[in-house]
Amino acid sequence: MTTDKNSEQLWSVIESSSRIVLVTHANPDGDAIGSVTALYYFLKQIGKTAFIAVPNRFPDFLSCLNPAGSSIHIYKEESDECDKVISQADLVICMDMNGPRRIDELAEPVFNGTQARRILIDHHLNPETDYFDIVISETEVSSTCELLLELILKSPETDGNFGRVGLDCANSIAAGMLTDTNNFANSIFPGTLERMSMLLKRGVDRDSLYDNIFCSYSESRMRLMGHLLSEKMKVIHNGSVAFIILDNADKEKYLFRNGDSEGFVNLPLRMRGVRMSALLKEDDSYIKVSLRSKGDLDVNRFAREYCNGGGHRNASGGKLYMDIRETAAYFTACVEDYFKKA
Ligand code: 5GP
Ligand code: MN
Repeated sequence: MTTDKNSEQLWSVIESSSRIVLVTHANPDGDAIGSVTALYYFLKQIGKTAFIAVPNRFPDFLSCLNPAGSSIHIYKEESDECDKVISQADLVICMDMNGPRRIDELAEPVFNGTQARRILIDHHLNPETDYFDIVISETEVSSTCELLLELILKSPETDGNFGRVGLDCANSIAAGMLTDTNNFANSIFPGTLERMSMLLKRGVDRDSLYDNIFCSYSESRMRLMGHLLSEKMKVIHNGSVAFIILDNADKEKYLFRNGDSEGFVNLPLRMRGVRMSALLKEDDSYIKVSLRSKGDLDVNRFAREYCNGGGHRNASGGKLYMDIRETAAYFTACVEDYFKKA
């Protein structure tokens, strides 16, 4: 890890701070909610309180990680309170995000509305380091949660002793690792399973986490998945690329709730020959793009070049600002252009 010096700084800055805010990316997933809640629990263990702010709602199945029911503040619904707390903060820790654009309107108070120091803890490529006082960035880990576990083990509180990581904290970390690896199917690095094994030894109940995270579909979500696969999935580029468009009409028909399409983008990769998959989802003001790939096919480059986004080599995303009816033709043209250049 490249983080030794910065991790020492992290714990001394935390030690000297008293008004700490934890922030993570829009449309929070398991790693996002896992990392802010894990750090919240650990800070509590060392006698610190923290305020968690996220840009918008997170899926219900992650509520099991939420400390004391309501302590995650949703910026879209509680902007006044968030603005006030962030303006008075002395430390803001941003997790599982690599720059201001990942937090939508929450970027304003975090990057313009406070004198607080800013720390980044993240595992994405290309962190926008200029926005932070301390950057702890490590891409050779499964998740931000895995990186956070490593940092916690370097804290004076644990001094490398796993038994001193609280169970709630361990549970949130495991949830982030479970979701970002798609139940340990992707993004596994040499340390990942070792760390998961330590979490199990610590007492994390993987079966119940798995059940909460992967087996909590509503009936309408299950039917939406079937509908998209049978009616909406397109396979192009000689069977090597597949994409699915999820429009507002289908969202309405299938009672769509935030998080309902989580994981759908992985499904086409189960077809033989498919090396790249995309989900294009109509949102209020843009089309949210999710991309996944296999092997050395680099969807981070695809997201940066064609979708105003970025991410990792095999999992990235971005946004398109166009009519949903134009996206199929646009995406198909981008795929052709991308492979021509490759
Ligand atoms: P997902 O498809 O699960 O929304 O996102 C997968 C990964 O793509 C995320 O972990 C993140 O690295 C990246 N990503 C998703 N959306 C965006 C975006 O709008 N901008 C950037 N820079 N990265 C994104
Ligand atoms: Mn992540």
